[in-house]
Amino acid sequence: MAGALTRVLPEQRDLQVIEVTTKSVACDGGGGPLGHPLTYYEVGAEGFATCGYCGKKFIRKD
Ligand SMILES: [Zn+2]
Repeated sequence: MAGALTRVLPEQRDLQVIEVTTKSVACDGGGGPLGHPLTYYEVGAEGFATCGYCGKKFIRKD
């Protein structure tokens, strides 16, 4: 799924760590009143990315 994008789902709102299988992730905090502006991150060579708004950590899982 090269080029695919993982989007945080509403049911993942309370998770602090989310495993993803794509390089690109989009986080809005899970949406709703507790969410934040949709922001895109790249899970690059380090293997993880942290959302600057809500602090969720996205870990690349191959
Ligand atoms: Zn976020």
